[in-house]
Amino acid sequence: MPYRAWFQCLHCEDERYPLNEIVYECRRCGGLLEVRHDMEALATRPAGEWRKLLDQRYMRTDFPFGSSVWGKKEMVCPEVADENVVSMYEGGSNLFWAERLGRELGIGDLWIKQCGNSHTGSFKDLGMTVLVSMVKQMIAEGKKIPAVACASTGDTSAALAAYCAAAGIPAIVFLPKDKVSTSQLIQPIANGAITLTLPTDFDGCMKVAIEMSRRENIYLANSRNSLRIEGQKTVAIELVQQDDWAVPDWVIIPGGNLGNVSALGKGFLEMKAMGLIDRLPRLAVAQAANANPLYQSFLSGFARFEPQKARNTLASAIQIGNPVSYERAIRTLKRFDGVVEQATEDELANASARADRTGLFTCPHTGVALAVLFKLVERKVIVPGRKVLVISTAHGLKFPDFKIRYHEHQLHEFGVEARHANRLIDVGADYDSVRGAVLKALESRL
Ligand SMILES: *Cc1c(COP(=O)(O)O)cnc(C)c1O
Ligand SMILES: [Zn+2]
Repeated sequence: MPYRAWFQCLHCEDERYPLNEIVYECRRCGGLLEVRHDMEALATRPAGEWRKLLDQRYMRTDFPFGSSVWGKKEMVCPEVADENVVSMYEGGSNLFWAERLGRELGIGDLWIKQCGNSHTGSFKDLGMTVLVSMVKQMIAEGKKIPAVACASTGDTSAALAAYCAAAGIPAIVFLPKDKVSTSQLIQPIANGAITLTLPTDFDGCMKVAIEMSRRENIYLANSRNSLRIEGQKTVAIELVQQDDWAVPDWVIIPGGNLGNVSALGKGFLEMKAMGLIDRLPRLAVAQAANANPLYQSFLSGFARFEPQKARNTLASAIQIGNPVSYERAIRTLKRFDGVVEQATEDELANASARADRTGLFTCPHTGVALAVLFKLVERKVIVPGRKVLVISTAHGLKFPDFKIRYHEHQLHEFGVEARHANRLIDVGADYDSVRGAVLKALESRL
């Protein structure tokens, strides 16, 4: 195998560890680790041949290369043996041409990358397939790993539970009590994970998960674990691949723990290093105003970063005050001439509903990204003629309460005034009542 990758410390740059070692941070300085690839080895194949190879594999059946993550295996995790890959055919999510919404905004070329159209309904599958595959490989090599654990705002736990169930590895998930949706909660339960809810927030769950992994030798699947970033970076590769290797001008992405924006950036930078693309997009991170530590840092030109206590937000998967990957994210944004913008509860809920009216079915986090898009267009940071791509992170069906309460005008406690609500019409079963209700409703739309 000519391709190699290893963990390397982001801080001291000196420390390196093999990918099949149980290590989450630099043993010398405590810094975050990043997966580094032997870029020289990758460069031995010309860009044109890489493109051809990646396109040949894309969405085909040859295991594991039909998965859009494993179709890029040499660039993602070359060290895993094919027989240890735990895959559910990740990636290959559709790009939605948001023609109507783009026209309404006057920007024309608007695309939504539907990462939630995935096995467990969020982009977290992309990273989890890499992490769980490596765990399977380590177990096959004789390492003692009794279980894999994570703290989660709902989507990571669903992905971990599914991949562990597929591999037959015990999973443990820590969830903040009453802060994940019913759909998110039932996923790890159904997949047989040891599922615990704790009377704290995500950051509190994270503390317990870290301690548990230290003391009990349980493998930690949080985004501190940079194997997940390798899988998630394939969304950058996939979205240009889907557009015949053309790079958009802007990519907008909702950010919580900030692993995904870091992954996206890593994907673009490595593609550029390999000659697969010749320029970089600008990046915008969208945060909920109620959980906005990166936005606050952006306002100071990233001179400071202060963790905060995140307040309640409908965008529950990004209700994170102390993001693990903030250093990675800031580094990324500096490279990509990036911006950070925030959305209030009212803005995110209405943006989500407005987009739904044009054929989408957005989760609240995608609502945050869309609200930020609207603001950047209004402020003329994003101007007409630019190709804009919004990363939709989860499937709207994972958040039915958010949707129902919006349309029933029941989100007052979040300060939401539902401007695009569509009320359910409850009528008698006789023709005249139905006809009267339909005609009245039609009239109100003219
Ligand atoms: C995890 C998640 C995010 C945030 O991604 P980070 O990597 O934590 O910034 C956004 N949206 C959804 C639906 C998620 O599950
Ligand atoms: Zn170090």
